[in-house]
Amino acid sequence: MHAEIENINASDSTRDKATQIIESCVHCGFCLATCPTYQLLGDELDSPRGRIYLIKSALEQNQFSLKSLSHMDRCLTCRSCETTCPSGVEYGKLLEIGRDIMESKRGKFQSIYRFIIRKILLTPFIFKPIGYFFRHSKITTKLAKSENTDSTVLLMSGCVQPTLAPNINHSIKNILSKLNVKVIETSQGDCCGALDHHLSASTDALKKVKRNIDFWTEQMSSGVEVLISSASGCGVMIKDYPGLFEISDPYYDKALLVASKTKDIAEFLAEKDLSMLNLSELNVTYHEPCTIQHGQKLGGLVESILSEFGYIKKPIKDSHICCGSAGAYSIFETKISNQLRANKIENLNTSKPKMIVTSNIGCLLHLQKGSSVPVKHWVELLDV
Ligand code: SF4
Ligand code: SF4
Repeated sequence: MHAEIENINASDSTRDKATQIIESCVHCGFCLATCPTYQLLGDELDSPRGRIYLIKSALEQNQFSLKSLSHMDRCLTCRSCETTCPSGVEYGKLLEIGRDIMESKRGKFQSIYRFIIRKILLTPFIFKPIGYFFRHSKITTKLAKSENTDSTVLLMSGCVQPTLAPNINHSIKNILSKLNVKVIETSQGDCCGALDHHLSASTDALKKVKRNIDFWTEQMSSGVEVLISSASGCGVMIKDYPGLFEISDPYYDKALLVASKTKDIAEFLAEKDLSMLNLSELNVTYHEPCTIQHGQKLGGLVESILSEFGYIKKPIKDSHICCGSAGAYSIFETKISNQLRANKIENLNTSKPKMIVTSNIGCLLHLQKGSSVPVKHWVELLDV
């Protein structure tokens, strides 16, 4: 196979990894039933199996067109197909390889547009003043201070979240203060690298990843026990850091350490006695992001925490299907994204909640755009 793909700009280990993933697919088609883009568009090439075929074809014959790239772009990277797949196909990893290979087909205008969007979102001195006018929520409570702390955690600040929804990490600081946990927040504007990574800007992504790994491992060696993420999209990216490096790379072991110490806020709170906390609203519906259920495999965890406070889990039709946010997807694939949001909001509103809560800033902002019901991060319910 390698003899046929020598013109493609991919390292031997990347090709080997892609081949291994492609060969693990038994073409059963089970994944088609749970793929949002196949459900909406009905085209096999907009399904996981179809995209695997396109990537295989690109690798084997160096043949891919702008149309192939469009099928890659339309994938939400929701990884619902991974949850369904009986053969354990690592579709998300293969997709990143496929996208990197096919990126060369992208036209100049589209490339420049994507570059500008990335730079606006990821450059704090540009994004902060613009984002201020699109702020979703303000800080609603006073910052509590704990006198006695018995452990220290690092709280991932994030790139857009501190500007658009500062109350999320503020609530976490207050909750952790009540639990006697000292919080060190990473500097505002820190990005996990996911946005660059998913838009095939691998060099920029890797720079951010290495910067984070250097800083976080230093903190971890000085007593920080856990890195907490309140955005599940960032959490899954950080947990996947080791996969970005060859085993021989000096960063590989450090990435493993960071990944092993990273927890979504739900994982962290699930291990604590929360009896001193209260819930501000019971009539809520929880939207479980793909990055929680398919990416981090933490399905059901948030609702089990909320149930300690009397919340009753509601059946939600198609709860495994993406809301259409998917990072920058909603900017570039507006039509599919809006349709998925409309479907999701209809399903979330069946029980007539007073509020929709979720675990990821991207889902939160995206859902709010189409919802008359307020949308918040679930931790905000606990800051009372
Ligand atoms: S990705 Fe998994 S579920 Fe989909 S066709 Fe291949 S083996 Fe079947
Ligand atoms: S990641 Fe999501 S959109 Fe992409 S192929 Fe899998 S199920 Fe479909």
